[in-house]
Amino acid sequence: MTTPRPRPEVLTISPYIGGESELPGINRTVKLSSNEGAFGVPPGAQAAIRRAADDAFRYPDGGADALREAIGRRWGLDPARIVCGAGSDDLIYQFCLAYGGPGRDIVMSAHGFAIYFIAGTYAGSRVIKVPERNLTADVDAMLAAVSPATRLMFLANPNNPTGSMVPHEEVARLRAHLPPEVLLVLDSAYAEYVTRADYDPGVRLVDATDNTVMTRTFSKVFGLGGMRIGWCYGPPDVIDVLNRTRGPFNVSVAAQAAAIAALAEPGWVEKGRDHNTAWRPKLAEGLAAAGIKVWPSEGNFVLADFGTPAKAEAADAWLRQRGIIVRRVGGYGLPHCLRITVGLAEEVQAVVEGLAAFLAGRQGD
Ligand SMILES: *Cc1c(COP(=O)(O)O)cnc(C)c1O
Repeated sequence: MTTPRPRPEVLTISPYIGGESELPGINRTVKLSSNEGAFGVPPGAQAAIRRAADDAFRYPDGGADALREAIGRRWGLDPARIVCGAGSDDLIYQFCLAYGGPGRDIVMSAHGFAIYFIAGTYAGSRVIKVPERNLTADVDAMLAAVSPATRLMFLANPNNPTGSMVPHEEVARLRAHLPPEVLLVLDSAYAEYVTRADYDPGVRLVDATDNTVMTRTFSKVFGLGGMRIGWCYGPPDVIDVLNRTRGPFNVSVAAQAAAIAALAEPGWVEKGRDHNTAWRPKLAEGLAAAGIKVWPSEGNFVLADFGTPAKAEAADAWLRQRGIIVRRVGGYGLPHCLRITVGLAEEVQAVVEGLAAFLAGRQGD
């Protein structure tokens, strides 16, 4: 008997493992596993989602015109060069399906965001993972990995799960030495959290070239991960391609309304960024004081390095027993590490105290 079968590469994809949100038997959990904004959903966005209930029988505006206008105003960008998606993941899939495919290689860094590998493999591309230097994308190695078959390169900046950032000058050097037929996707999901002066989310390169796009999301500082909404800014030809390939109604009525309201929420981004700027160092220092190596991060999370997979696993199990969920990153080739989101003040304190107690109980090993 024959049964329906996908293309063979499809079954080489391992399902994406998201951050867990519940623990059996524990009713109040501290969830620090998905880099969601510490302050939840902006109040204005909550009201907009409720109001959207009345309109949910109607199809959404397929062009997301009002939202693109609002994004354009916020960042000083031409709305005609913006496309919205059901999360930036949706847009990453579109890039892979449209610009990748059999015989078209995709390049990413070794510990880059998992969706690039999943979406690229799904498209039929070979996805090449390039070794990093100090858990940071290595521009020279990325360039060396390019072949005549390369059509797409992804760079998350800052990267998840490592937190590392590539300065604008280095990203510009990468672009300058890439062949013109390679589309460079700069994934700036954490841009709002970055305070370093040598950072650019990608706007400068998008404006200066015709083969670079930037993706952004409402899932992190804007507190709308559950609504699924992201966007990209790119050159007219790339925008034209995405408007052909994307789902015609890819962003729901409620998501569009929520995102517009989140943009209008007074002081929301500043509050999230300021909290992160104050509490990320407290998290890092607290862990370091307990004897855990912490990698430098520009995002709303840190990568805690326990040295061995066994110790990282034991630390994770210990935290779970105390109702604290962080993220295991073995799937990213980092089985000796845990990724921990910067939560509210009491959540940061809880995870620091939990891990300090864990290590105190293991002295000598
Ligand atoms: C969280 C994250 C995203 C956002 O994905 P959405 O689909 O917009 O929720 C994109 N890229 C990276 C690197 C991320 O960490």
